[in-house]
Amino acid sequence: MEENISKNFIEKIIDEDLENGTYAKVVTRFPPEPNGYLHIGHAKSILLNYGLAQKYNGDFHLRFDDTNAKKENTEFVDSIVKDVEWLGAKYVGGIRYASNYFDDMYKAAIELIKKGKAYVDDLTAQQIREYRGTLTEPGKNSPYRDRSIEDNLDLFERMKNDEFKDGEKVLRAKIDMSSPNINMRDPIIYRVAHVTHHNTGDKWCIYPMYDFAHPIEDAIEGITHSICTLEFEDHRPLYNWVVEELGYPHPPKQIEFAKLYLTNVVTGKRYIKKLVEEGIVDGWDDPRLVTIAALRRRGFTPESLKMFMEMTSVTKSNSSADYAMLEYCIRDDLKPKAPRLMAVLDPIKLIIDNYPEKMTEYLDAPNNVENPELGSRKIPFEKELYIEREDFMIEPPKKYYRFFVGNEVRLMNAYFVTCTSYETDDNGNVTVIHGTYDPETKSGSGFNSRKVKGTIHWVSAHHSKKVTVRLYEQLVDEEKGVYNEDGSVNLNPNSLTVIHNAYIEENIKNYKAGDSFQFVRKGFFNIDPKDSTADHPIFNRIASMKSSFKLPK
Ligand code: ATP
Ligand code: MG
Repeated sequence: MEENISKNFIEKIIDEDLENGTYAKVVTRFPPEPNGYLHIGHAKSILLNYGLAQKYNGDFHLRFDDTNAKKENTEFVDSIVKDVEWLGAKYVGGIRYASNYFDDMYKAAIELIKKGKAYVDDLTAQQIREYRGTLTEPGKNSPYRDRSIEDNLDLFERMKNDEFKDGEKVLRAKIDMSSPNINMRDPIIYRVAHVTHHNTGDKWCIYPMYDFAHPIEDAIEGITHSICTLEFEDHRPLYNWVVEELGYPHPPKQIEFAKLYLTNVVTGKRYIKKLVEEGIVDGWDDPRLVTIAALRRRGFTPESLKMFMEMTSVTKSNSSADYAMLEYCIRDDLKPKAPRLMAVLDPIKLIIDNYPEKMTEYLDAPNNVENPELGSRKIPFEKELYIEREDFMIEPPKKYYRFFVGNEVRLMNAYFVTCTSYETDDNGNVTVIHGTYDPETKSGSGFNSRKVKGTIHWVSAHHSKKVTVRLYEQLVDEEKGVYNEDGSVNLNPNSLTVIHNAYIEENIKNYKAGDSFQFVRKGFFNIDPKDSTADHPIFNRIASMKSSFKLPK
């Protein structure tokens, strides 16, 4: 009962179809066009389609929509396959290509001609547009509409046999030039195009149009629910017309849902492509983008994306999700999973004057206080440490509980330290902070005779590792909105900050590219898989610790 309430509208349709016996088994597909990298919107479509196949014990197909005969781009094909697999979507029957069905589509076109449901038209593209009518006016029949079946068969064959130039002739479905739906006004289903196709080479000089090809591909593969986004709603009558006229048993059913958008984030292949081509970002996987490759490089996990997709429901009305919700999901996923360690991103030296010279003490620290399974480690402590510059103030405001002269603070996993003085350079910049520690207050010793309000993180000055850290903000200037009037993106000049002298605990030794950590108080970071080297890891901040997102009640 409860399960029923939380079902989305597509699941309700599927339930009915299975109950009525319309279909025996659910088969869904993801049909990307290999003309760019996949983005978070595609992830929604993949996880939705795969999720349905899983839920109903059905099959999920991956099929490249390569009917648009442009040059093959193996980079895009490879990246798409990698992304689909990384998301965990298991497709059956290997990688499929729409172009593998060109023969079937050609035969289907002949079948329509034979039924008197398609004709070859000699009107020019311009004339076809004029004859089409408008939203308020019906279209006009083409003077070639009533050609005989024999003539149509002959002409279509000659189209195929390379007797005509591009645009000279087209094959149109014979439906209804006065239909209120313009898509039904004798849409073009085949056109002449002298293009070499990456898969079929020069075999064809005629290519099927998407609205004709797609339902045939679905029907051949036995797809039951052909899920697409809302812009195809008006094309559904044509989809149905094609599968009905061709008499497929158990024809597939097109269902539309609203695209996923993120507020103030560039989604949309076209726009992302432009940022890549103009060199505004460092490739399709620049961690500031929301392509799947970029999200992976930034440190997002498939689990976090799944959670995000569940939170952004499947609906019929367009809406935009908050990026903060995506950050919420990755924090939620990494909080118990990621080891925590101390890293100082803006270092300033702290000297503990009463600590012995040349002594290093190894203190116990849990790897994740929320997850004891991750064990603990020993962290080196010594006289000279680094702390964050912002954890000291000469003149502290009220409620500032960190270091200022005279104040006692807890060094995480170590001792209480009282700040005694500081040094400055000629310009008055603080260069060193001095303090004294209380040996009684060692962490884990059971000391509890007094408490302090502030706890800060630190690293040893001589037993830490210098690393590069990248901090990100949105690529888009949120104050101004995403696009300028000329279509360019309003860029945030601070979207990337590179820190070259951050220090992390030296413990981090057996790391590998892609590993994620929580730097205490600073956020979640992962080791950039592209630019890191064996001895110099580069950390991408996935998300800070602060959240502006609250789970709805
Ligand atoms: P874009 O809108 O970025 O240009 P597209 O729709 O041209 O993408 P395709 O490769 O044609 O990209 O799409 C593959 C599938 O992904 C289609 O079924 C499409 O409906 C779906 N899809 C694309 N964008 C989104 C989105 N923002 N949310 C959900 N599904 C999407
Ligand atoms: Mg498209």
